[in-house]
Amino acid sequence: MPEYKAPVRDIKFVMQEVFDCDSHYQKFGYEDASLDMVDAIIGEAAKFTEQVVAPINQIGDEQGCTWTDGEVTTPDGFKDAYQQYVDGGWPTLAQNIEFGGQGLPHSLNMSITELFSSANHSFAMYPGLSHGALATIEAHGSDLQKQMFMPKLVEGSWTGTMCLTESHCGTDLGMLRTKAELSDDGSYSLSGTKIFISAGEHDLSDNIIHIVIARIPGSPEGSRGISLFIVPKFNVTDAAELDGRNAVSCGSIEHKMGINANATCVINFDGAKGYLIGEVNRGLHCMFTFMNAARLGVAAEGVAAAEASFQGALAYAQDRLQMRSLSGVKNPNGPADPIIVHPDVRRMLLTQKSIAEGGRALIAYLAQLVDVGHASKDEAEIADAESKLALLTPIAKAFLTELGLECTSHGVQVFGGHGFIKEWGMEQLMRDTKISCLYEGTTGIQALDLLARKILGSKGELLKPFGREVTAFCTENADDKAMDEFIKPIITFGADWQKMTEMVGMKAMENPDEIGAASVDYLMYSGYLTLAYFWAKMAKVAQDKLANGEDDVAFYQAKIKTARFYFQRILPRASGHAACVENGANSMMAHNIDDFSF
Ligand SMILES: Cc1cc2nc3c(=O)[nH]c(=O)nc-3n(C[C@H](O)[C@H](O)[C@H](O)COP(=O)(O)OP(=O)(O)OC[C@H]3O[C@@H](n4cnc5c(N)ncnc54)[C@H](O)[C@@H]3O)c2cc1C
Repeated sequence: MPEYKAPVRDIKFVMQEVFDCDSHYQKFGYEDASLDMVDAIIGEAAKFTEQVVAPINQIGDEQGCTWTDGEVTTPDGFKDAYQQYVDGGWPTLAQNIEFGGQGLPHSLNMSITELFSSANHSFAMYPGLSHGALATIEAHGSDLQKQMFMPKLVEGSWTGTMCLTESHCGTDLGMLRTKAELSDDGSYSLSGTKIFISAGEHDLSDNIIHIVIARIPGSPEGSRGISLFIVPKFNVTDAAELDGRNAVSCGSIEHKMGINANATCVINFDGAKGYLIGEVNRGLHCMFTFMNAARLGVAAEGVAAAEASFQGALAYAQDRLQMRSLSGVKNPNGPADPIIVHPDVRRMLLTQKSIAEGGRALIAYLAQLVDVGHASKDEAEIADAESKLALLTPIAKAFLTELGLECTSHGVQVFGGHGFIKEWGMEQLMRDTKISCLYEGTTGIQALDLLARKILGSKGELLKPFGREVTAFCTENADDKAMDEFIKPIITFGADWQKMTEMVGMKAMENPDEIGAASVDYLMYSGYLTLAYFWAKMAKVAQDKLANGEDDVAFYQAKIKTARFYFQRILPRASGHAACVENGANSMMAHNIDDFSF
């Protein structure tokens, strides 16, 4: 199992040097988030994830969760680690002071989310779901609901879930069958079965607060008739005390490809008491609060996977001796050279490194935009941040998780046959990471959200605020010869992005299937270009630091070298996606449904 080391230097580079978090926090009134505080939190999170969370990753995979008569037991060490997490105040970090939180910025919390996920994907999901539940109750709950449920969720002694999926509906939630009937006391009685509920039942917390979508009888069919409810495992009094078991039970847990230590549950509601959140039939609208926060968290899982896999692969590649370098012996005292001398091994390592570091920058940027939404008083500034978030969230979610998965596959490959063996932990990373491409909206669904709903739905308007930012950066650096190798490709690929969007829009007017046929390639193109922008920004900072004679020369030089690798070896993939978009739907749709048999 590779030993996990939190990438503290790189996180600070992104937060402090690329995105100047100090000025950002001062501007938005987060006085407590001083540079010292940021350093201290990242440092403590590094220690906690390296020493407490990472060591139970492999045993968690081996043991998995167990289900006995409706009770779920997490693997050895999970209960203790979660208690330490609560005792350390980690759940409270970015939560509202009114409910016991520390009121620190979302972006600071986001910066350490990656560490938890790299160290142990399954463990990180338990508190991760509570954040989404909290965001939903805070945004849409009544004052009483906030008093009843938020303080314990903030503290971490209760955890949350998101209950959407049913056996016959995952993507198409409009087909849901779970029913919510109004009771005499104004609460609702929920009946139905949800499947695949992460952290739906476990032994880590005193109560589990399910956020559930259901239909109130008489509501319209489809997604316009969905309402949202809080359904606790144990009933809760108005004074937030436990009040006996609710009619919620865990029917079974899934045996699955990865994240074995996170319980994926069938949850039965048998006339369970629930509380409506927000307005009747506006459930999906409220749920978007949960889903947007969760999508950024899942995007960070892609980065986390790339980083963890890179760390394992790098250590192995420096150590493993096989064959001689094509350009002459590099390790004359050994029987062979370390495999890191081979260009193809470097291709894999640098792909991992460039995706982990570029993705980290994209996530940090998006997290700062979330801060703007929370703390700015300037409507134009909020609107700008919201448009960029709307555009980039599906890109980050789908692109970074697909690339994260690819990076874990490179991790296995660098280890050769040993990567396929459980002991090394590389295959676990690959198995654990696949889910990130599936839950919170599959890659295909993120791509449709991006292209159909957001880009074509806004007639291209949504591209403009982020486009203006990228253009301004290119213009500012147009005379800087050292930046040419980064700026010119961004301008070329950016212009093609516009043309591609117009072309798909035109084709879609004649054949709506053109949108679905183009969408994933369009999203991947957008992802490669977006990451190119963040790599160019990082290269610029590194060049300036070197020009100013700052210490840490090797770090900044490595940044520029990795940026160069990204532009020369990763960004060109976008052209392949553009060609696929241009070739359109015909070859996909030519088969009749019955012709697919062989
Ligand atoms: C381990 C695990 C944990 C999970 N955790 C949770 C949780 O906590 N809470 C929860 O509510 N759910 C959870 N889920 C469910 C998850 O969100 C769904 O599985 C996911 O949304 C996909 O739904 P589905 O499985 O029904 O697939 P389907 O919706 O049946 O999709 C199957 C395939 O068809 C594609 N597809 C569907 N519609 C379209 C379309 N219009 N255009 C193009 N392609 C389309 C999809 O992209 C996918 O490739 C979890 C699932 C797993 C496996």
